[in-house]
Amino acid sequence: MPPERAEAEATFRLLPSVEEVLSQVAPSTLAPGPARDRLLDFVRETIDRWRSDIRSGHLLAGDLRKRLSSGDLVREVQDLIAVDSRRGLKRAINATGVVLHTGLGRAPVHPEVAQAMAEAASSYCILEVDRETGERNERDAHLGTLLTRLTGAEAGIAVNNNAAAVFLTLQTWGAGKETIVSRGELVEIGGSFRMPDVMARAGTTLREVGTTNRTRLEDYRQAITPRTGLLLKVHTSNYRLQGFVHEVSADELSALGSERGLPTSYDLGSGLIELPGATPLTMLGDEPRVRDAVSSGIDVVTFSGDKLLGGPQAGLIVGKRSSISALRKNPIYRAMRLDKVTLAGLEKTVELYLAGRADELPSRQMLLASAESLRPVAERIAAQIRTLDGFTAAVMSDKSQPGSGSAPGIFLDTFVVQVKHSRRSAFALAHALRLGDPPVFARIQEALLLLDMRTILPGEVHDLTEGIARIDA
Ligand SMILES: *Cc1c(COP(=O)(O)O)cnc(C)c1O
Repeated sequence: MPPERAEAEATFRLLPSVEEVLSQVAPSTLAPGPARDRLLDFVRETIDRWRSDIRSGHLLAGDLRKRLSSGDLVREVQDLIAVDSRRGLKRAINATGVVLHTGLGRAPVHPEVAQAMAEAASSYCILEVDRETGERNERDAHLGTLLTRLTGAEAGIAVNNNAAAVFLTLQTWGAGKETIVSRGELVEIGGSFRMPDVMARAGTTLREVGTTNRTRLEDYRQAITPRTGLLLKVHTSNYRLQGFVHEVSADELSALGSERGLPTSYDLGSGLIELPGATPLTMLGDEPRVRDAVSSGIDVVTFSGDKLLGGPQAGLIVGKRSSISALRKNPIYRAMRLDKVTLAGLEKTVELYLAGRADELPSRQMLLASAESLRPVAERIAAQIRTLDGFTAAVMSDKSQPGSGSAPGIFLDTFVVQVKHSRRSAFALAHALRLGDPPVFARIQEALLLLDMRTILPGEVHDLTEGIARIDA
């Protein structure tokens, strides 16, 4: 055995056994089972890491002895346990100022919506049965009716998300045929949802027309052949073409579809609803509205439930009665149908719109909040932070974003609290806040930590300041 090998062998023997380490990180009463197995995995993983450091010569006997006696190994196991215990879906405070933040779950729902969802989850509910006759019926029949009232369409259905809505549409009319779409609208939505890839998987052949910046109705018309299955329009929801541009309007596309007897579809994504009784979201500029898309005569319009609508995650499809019933008959629809909890939440969300209470929806309130209304909250939080040792805080005006690819290039005036710490960088502060309970997500801009007041919910101010106070505790 070469001398280095022999030395490594001797060093390995200094490492404690798995059982020894386990007894130091867990009470000896820990019964066999998943909890004990999980700890054993962390202990083995840590010992293995130390072993490989010994093997590679990065950890020599002297160092190893020192680190063992100072409790480093046990501490590393405890760190793994701590990281593991922080995993998973938990409530978080959004101080990023991005209202529809996909990473943080997009729209927080109205308390009455949350309550309807909790009730549906924890009890039986009238999901697929008619109360009058006791017969089975469609689970989203009532939602369909509510959607017609909301959007002015003849009919509506819902699936798990808008990506599914688009897929179902393409598969229903485009499979085995061609789908014509403008080259300027071949969007990629975050999370690898690329229009051309989705089309391929839906079994439809992409027929691109026009150029990146300009597409005319003539381009669509000339591409129509007996193989054409669908004329598609996609809202470029997360980018904006500027300059020498032209796109085909929904009205034009719908007229061409009727003229040639071809189905038409418009993927809106963001799904802006404006109704009497709801303060218009004028800050979003020329963001297309669901009602306008429907009244253009397009056969089906698809949009998300958790973007500008402000409800739970879903894909909503509204349009002509015959088109919606064709979608419903597609067996793939069954694989995309909503669960009772989401359905309960969506019905309640739409009911709030129809009752003239849309302004109560948290995401609409956040979009509508004026900078001046956010300033006092910022002042209050800054004042509390200034009382903490090592911290300084300043209130500044800044810009928030609608998020979720809704209204790109649109910024909303806001007030932020800029937080500094005498010994910690903005990055270290942001990290500590993310690991807190509840976790806080802040914005870092030019190496400054900013807390944007726009996306802080009314009841969260206390938790936020407590979270900051605990950083150095
Ligand atoms: C967001 C978006 C989608 C995807 O919607 P999800 O609800 O996230 O599945 C599809 N198309 C457009 C244009 C979008 O903006």
